[in-house]
Amino acid sequence: MIEVKNLVKRYGDHCAVDHLSFTVADGQIYGFLGPNGAGKSTTMNIMTGYLAATEGEVLIEGHNVLEEPEEARRCIGYLPEIPPVYPEMTVREYLHFCAQLKKIPKAEQENQIAQVVALTHLEEVAGRLIRNLSKGYRQRLGLAQAILGFPKIIILDEPTVGLDPKQIIEIRDLIRRLAREHTVILSSHILSEVRAVCDHILIIHKGKLVACDTPENLEEHLSGAHTVEIEAKGSCEQVEEILSGIPSLTGKTVSPKTESTVAAELTAAQDVREQLFRAFAAADCPLLELTPRIASLEEVFLELTRGGREESADGVPGEVRPQDEEGGGQA
Ligand code: ADP
Ligand code: MG
Repeated sequence: MIEVKNLVKRYGDHCAVDHLSFTVADGQIYGFLGPNGAGKSTTMNIMTGYLAATEGEVLIEGHNVLEEPEEARRCIGYLPEIPPVYPEMTVREYLHFCAQLKKIPKAEQENQIAQVVALTHLEEVAGRLIRNLSKGYRQRLGLAQAILGFPKIIILDEPTVGLDPKQIIEIRDLIRRLAREHTVILSSHILSEVRAVCDHILIIHKGKLVACDTPENLEEHLSGAHTVEIEAKGSCEQVEEILSGIPSLTGKTVSPKTESTVAAELTAAQDVREQLFRAFAAADCPLLELTPRIASLEEVFLELTRGGREESADGVPGEVRPQDEEGGGQA
């Protein structure tokens, strides 16, 4: 379990992480979702002990990351946004190096390296210099070193950046397999990415946690409202009259649709479809259409991060990253 309590990170006047608090339960996949500059990488760097927070604390399995870094870090495998590179090492040498850093017993090193190489499909490049690896293979190597030692918690910062669609599918499968025995936290600025693999989504915006829920609940409970679109045969007055008899409606817009029909968009705190059906039938006004409109996660994301383009006014460079041009990876 991970407990993040009231985390704050300031860079000068700029608050990159603004009083974040959340808990991560065991054995599930969590996704940090947020536009570029939201504070995802900063949060992950603090959680893994690579960066000190300005305020607040992080407990990993009860160990304070700053006070007991060895114990805390032993529970975590981390793929940072920009992994350290050792271009002159081969894949296998690098993994041996990581195994030593992670203090994996010598007798287990070979076996573990073979396992992570197989899991991330690195067999054919195991003897190659990292310098000569493609972006996709480098990313998989980063994943391999995060998994090495099979820590309880695996934290992956934008794990599918730079991968092609086939590789993205492979990595997603791998993440799902890992989640059977590990807690996985990943970040992404791509909605379809987190929707595809995560059990829980934490939406981060300007350093603040704006939502934390399952993808299903986020989609369902947008502003807690149920929206229904209807079309009925009759006049606007008639439809208004019928709707005024349904007290649970919290909002309605009624407008003529064709010469003899009226369209309306209705919101309510609960599902009112059955009430609508009965009210219109009782008034002998034919309901021609009744369509519940479920907010897509896209809408939730946009609503929660509204005005959400990274403020570039502060002139902080590095927000327009090359991967952003890849069409959002909607694979
Ligand atoms: P994300 O990973 O969600 O894209 P980051 O955590 O990288 O966001 O960045 C959050 C904010 O903090 C951004 O506005 C970024 O410009 C700023 N920031 C990150 N690192 C530094 C730094 N070392 N110095 C100053 N500002 C930084
Ligand atoms: Mg980032």
